Amino acid sequence: MDSFTVNTRMQEEIIDITHHIRTVVSRSAASEGVCFIYTPHTTAAVTINENADPAVLKDILKGLGHLKLENLQFSHREGNSPAHIKSSLIGCSAFVIINNGSLQLGTWQGIYLCEFDGPRTRKVLVKIIG
Ligand code: ZN
Repeated sequence: MDSFTVNTRMQEEIIDITHHIRTVVSRSAASEGVCFIYTPHTTAAVTINENADPAVLKDILKGLGHLKLENLQFSHREGNSPAHIKSSLIGCSAFVIINNGSLQLGTWQGIYLCEFDGPRTRKVLVKIIG
């Protein structure tokens, strides 16, 4: 297993971690297999989405914000239930196939860490299977 940390700077943001994952894959020298990317946090997430137009990442946050979770009254005393819910909606992991030593991402795909309760230091774990 490999890992790295990401220092987020805003309460909510989506950060490109593709280069970190590519480094892990090349360091592993794996030719074929699956790359499992996981963040062990309850108010962050991992997703794969467009890497061409940065507006897409803004729109994802805007779309989630449109749920207006902040307007609901929650039981969780920490006061960050909207971040917990967004983390569960997006999910805390992703798989990418490795073929001939390279991640099989689409041309317009990148791998992202989603922060929903920052700024914080977030850990990302990467396991190459196979
Ligand atoms: Zn909480």
